[in-house]
Amino acid sequence: MACYPREMDARYQNMTYNRSGRSGLKLPALSLGLWHNFGSTTPFETSLSLVRTAFDLGVTHFDLANNYGPPPGSAEETYGRIHRRELSSHRDEIIVSTKAGYEMWPGPYGNWGSRKSLLASLDQSLVRLGLPYVDIFYHHRPDPETPLEETMGALDYAVRSGKALYAGISNYPAPQASEAIRILRSLGTPCVLHQARYSMLDRWVEDGLLDVLEKEGVGCIAFSPLAKGVLTDRYLKGIPTDSRAATDPRFLKPSDLTEGVLRKARALQEIANERGQSLAQLALTWILRDPRMTSVLIGASKPEQVQDCVRALDAPALTESELSAIEAVLESA
Ligand code: NDP
Repeated sequence: MACYPREMDARYQNMTYNRSGRSGLKLPALSLGLWHNFGSTTPFETSLSLVRTAFDLGVTHFDLANNYGPPPGSAEETYGRIHRRELSSHRDEIIVSTKAGYEMWPGPYGNWGSRKSLLASLDQSLVRLGLPYVDIFYHHRPDPETPLEETMGALDYAVRSGKALYAGISNYPAPQASEAIRILRSLGTPCVLHQARYSMLDRWVEDGLLDVLEKEGVGCIAFSPLAKGVLTDRYLKGIPTDSRAATDPRFLKPSDLTEGVLRKARALQEIANERGQSLAQLALTWILRDPRMTSVLIGASKPEQVQDCVRALDAPALTESELSAIEAVLESA
């Protein structure tokens, strides 16, 4: 008789797993994104230590996209290498997601949301990952030219062909999300998850999207919940040389760190300190205050950051007066 190795249970004891909408899929309240620090320009040992630390803490969800690197595609290769080396015996304990929809290869088929593009991209991702299927396949962003029926039909086919277990969408505004969810349901492949940017500094999902997702029973996973590092202690006293703004300013530029933003971050850190939390932890606790949020999808450059973020899940709920104090800071000029 097969024997379940009980010593492996420990990693699941202290993690919270939330149901994604009304689906059967549970995700860890904190997931790890591989957008940064997993390209071939990052030492393999660094990437390995991030995944190892996360998984040992019960983080069972690793998020990728075809274009993560640099160079594009190399983050999937790095994860594939890590998976083969340490995680292949845990495959059924792990949720791997990937996406297509941003520019990936030259010519008319390497971008956006045609059936041609999505299905070719998924095949490429599986080769780079060295996996026969991913757990979630997302359309990465809406395509203004391709009919939604075609894009959703490609996601449905990805699931029916066994190359993905679930379909998801990302960066879809509320009306398009609603339509995409309707189409997917009519095809018999319900949308399991919407991946949306959400942080204390960027609250667009509160203007309708979360209402749609709740009504339709679709989960929501917040990306860049720390505003790419701004909602942490990283930049409060300048720009550290090993930070994202210093080393990879493609998406977080030193000029984004305005005095107004830093003033808010410092005020939020005071609230965090009064609660015995780091600013990063407060930022995550704040997102997870909303029961419609399935998971927060963090990035990290050091294992200690993953450990710090996971500890946010042990924090007491925010009180009404703490929530009001946070609102006052966020509304300040
Ligand atoms: P975050 O907002 O979580 O920022 C991560 C950065 O914050 C880290 O790289 C690190 O900065 C810093 N940090 C993290 N934890 C701590 C800590 N405890 N203390 C201090 N600093 C900390 O998320 P990302 O912007 O990295 O995005 C997360 C994931 O979301 C991506 O990997 C990707 O999977 C997904 N994503 C999806 C998108 C989409 O369009 N669907 C778009 C963007 C992201 P430093 O590196 O400077 O140390």
